[in-house]
Amino acid sequence: MKRRSFLIIILLCVLTQGILALPKVHVIATGGTIAGTSSGSGYTAGQVTIDNILAAVPDLSKIAELDYEQFCNIGSQDMNETIWLSLSKRINELFATGKYDGIVITHGTDTMEETAYFLNLTTRSDKPVVLVGSMRPSDAPDADGPKNLIVAVKAAADKKNVGKEVMCCLNQKLFEASGVFKNNSRDVDAFAAIKPDYTMPHGSKVGFDVTEVEKLPNVGIIYGYAGCSTLPLQAFVDANFEGVVLVGVGDGNFRADVQKIAEKAVAHGMKIVRSTRCPHGGVYTEGGEVEDLELGFIAAGSLNAQKARILLMLALTQTKDTDQIRQYFNKPIALQTVKK
Ligand code: ASP
Repeated sequence: MKRRSFLIIILLCVLTQGILALPKVHVIATGGTIAGTSSGSGYTAGQVTIDNILAAVPDLSKIAELDYEQFCNIGSQDMNETIWLSLSKRINELFATGKYDGIVITHGTDTMEETAYFLNLTTRSDKPVVLVGSMRPSDAPDADGPKNLIVAVKAAADKKNVGKEVMCCLNQKLFEASGVFKNNSRDVDAFAAIKPDYTMPHGSKVGFDVTEVEKLPNVGIIYGYAGCSTLPLQAFVDANFEGVVLVGVGDGNFRADVQKIAEKAVAHGMKIVRSTRCPHGGVYTEGGEVEDLELGFIAAGSLNAQKARILLMLALTQTKDTDQIRQYFNKPIALQTVKK
């Protein structure tokens, strides 16, 4: 009898522990203003380490059991493809341990939308991945980082967010990767979102498996304007870039002499994606002034240039076929394993 009550007590303890156990969230720190400190007439991003950032927000320990790592500590203007690849591989590795309910990444706001979109296309678990930043440095009296961190950790710990796109958190709001963009260079409410053509939550059956990828193809971006010079596009052609995203005026248009260089480049195998400098509306093959199908161009759809560049780089790890690349731009992507 005594033995039975003892076993029941043990069982109850185990059960209550299971019920009361906090979700487990891993925080990966990359820098940004959220890790910034005041300096000179402004501040420097990527100064404070993640142990100190988390220690400043004790309430986080009521939301989730946290562990963390310092991945890098940079302003996100210095983010690059090499870091993206190792970050994505690290996230896949962490989820593969089965230990974590979600992952939070502290990150600068300047290029957060790009990292989020890249990770959305390349991470293999459908558990929440949330990037978080701030517009004011960590030592500002009205620092916005701590409140954003609370929202981000809650979102990463929340089972309701399983099966969503990688998210970005700013001004205590959450945005999904495909639509989010930095809309304001100064305001704490700096992010906005367009309605994307389609959303594509990350997971085991979608996107690109970059396990074997060590370097992404060279793809550049060229900005259009009245009187636009032909020099930048010619420079990318001369440097043998595999692709260029043209940020056209209006509906993805470019002045005639730039377009001529683009047409020639396509004939030599370069992939040209047309996007627009207009934040809304996108660029589509139908109904515009440029005959994409005839000229071999690819329309970016609702993706802005910086996200179209990411998709083009990943697409080029798979294929050189323009029609196949057009498919990637048009609809959710079934898992593509990179061939060596
Ligand atoms: N330059 C900073 C960065 O992106 C700006 C910010 O985090 O808000 O790292």
